[in-house]
Amino acid sequence: MHHMTLAEIARGLADKKFSSEELTKALLARIAQLDPQLNSFISLTEELALGQAKAADARRAGGESGALLGAPIAHKDLFCTQGIRTSCGSKMLDNFKAPYDATVVAKLAAAGTVTLGKTNMDEFAMGSANESSHYGAVKNPWNLKHVPGGSSGGSAAAVAARLLPAATATDTGGSIRQPAAFTNLTGLKPTYGRVSRWGMIAYASSLDQGGPLARTAEDCAILLQGMAGFDPNDSTSIDEPVPDYSASLNGSLQGLRIGVPKEYFGAGLDPRIADLVQNSIKELEKLGAIIKEISLPNMQHAIPAYYVIAPAEASSNLSRFDGVRFGYRCENPQNLVDLYKRSRGEGFGAEVQRRIMVGTYALSAGYYDAYYLKAQKIRRLVKNDFMAAFNEVDIILGPTTPNPAWKLGAKNSDPIAEYLEDVYTITANLAGLPGLSMPAGFVDGLPVGVQLLAPYFQEGRLLNVAHQYQLNTDWHTRTPTGF
Ligand code: GLN
Repeated sequence: MHHMTLAEIARGLADKKFSSEELTKALLARIAQLDPQLNSFISLTEELALGQAKAADARRAGGESGALLGAPIAHKDLFCTQGIRTSCGSKMLDNFKAPYDATVVAKLAAAGTVTLGKTNMDEFAMGSANESSHYGAVKNPWNLKHVPGGSSGGSAAAVAARLLPAATATDTGGSIRQPAAFTNLTGLKPTYGRVSRWGMIAYASSLDQGGPLARTAEDCAILLQGMAGFDPNDSTSIDEPVPDYSASLNGSLQGLRIGVPKEYFGAGLDPRIADLVQNSIKELEKLGAIIKEISLPNMQHAIPAYYVIAPAEASSNLSRFDGVRFGYRCENPQNLVDLYKRSRGEGFGAEVQRRIMVGTYALSAGYYDAYYLKAQKIRRLVKNDFMAAFNEVDIILGPTTPNPAWKLGAKNSDPIAEYLEDVYTITANLAGLPGLSMPAGFVDGLPVGVQLLAPYFQEGRLLNVAHQYQLNTDWHTRTPTGF
């Protein structure tokens, strides 16, 4: 049962081949058996899952249908879930039971999904390796000695290992697309404002966006359908109608103009990944696409700008965790300052503290203009590059990451080396554009992803291109040995 995609599960449930309760029990048993190797879950929610599965079966028996009705999923542990621990991968929130459901959680529950649990993640979504979690590192099912990518590494490892068909995730600088690439999944970061951030614990509010992680573009379309839409509770949510994403999957690629930025193939890219990206380009050309070289000249400035803006916003967002209102509180505080200092010093891990210090520095009176303001100007230049490129092409294609998944611990002593791995993904967040990563081959047995970027609100176009590619290739069907 565990090999089924969301689309196959929907058909099986509609044809009464099995019930959601049977499927849920089978997957919970599989998680209990296999997850100890991976550490992809922070919390399991068996009781909730069985209750939701029975309710979904009853709704189907009553004549209701829907692609997500009875579908088992999991949520990254930064989506608030009422009455259930929502830790954000941090000791700070280890004792936090959310008093309400995030909009994404509520919408998916209303569509009939079954929540199997909350997945592991880098602390406060800061990282590219899922090694900064208070609950320990997540392992890559393709090679247990390697990282699964981050920060949505738990969602990615669980889906890649066939513990469940799909999961929610978030992407501030690549955290959906990069773990998708590292674990042979399809992952979509929607346009900023497409998916509500209400109840999604904030890292960098102007960059954060929730989206689906699944094995196929077809499944990403199904899950995104349940997540997207206007939310009056999120002031940056955009009031645009949500198209039927599954219906967008049958477009021809004849005449599709694909832009390939020359800056994506510079020094630092593993040449074996460059070759696989070229193969994917040839495949899309066979399907009728027209390839054009383009230029994104400001890409070189994106990493420094992102690593000022994201920590600046994080330093502000994380100021609420002060030991007073919720979360971790130190033992025996001597006075208020001691309470703040020790609660934050003991509750936050090293990477989070580093980002808070960098962000606070960049926002301080003497340095605001030199760092934060300058970074915002670069952000506009990055966006302008994309706007110019999209006058000439329909999508942009390149590698998702410069290297395949590295060994656990390999970059622990050098945070900047890890930041540099985000080079191809963060520009979409700076510009607010939608991006998708899809499986495109292997290097040393480790998966490689190809990234597609599209103009605002063209998630359907990305999903269609990926779906057409997946109809003609089989990379996305490969399964890690042992799972
Ligand atoms: N690796 C990036 C960071 O650490 C992106 C993380 C994310 O997208 N949440 O900030």
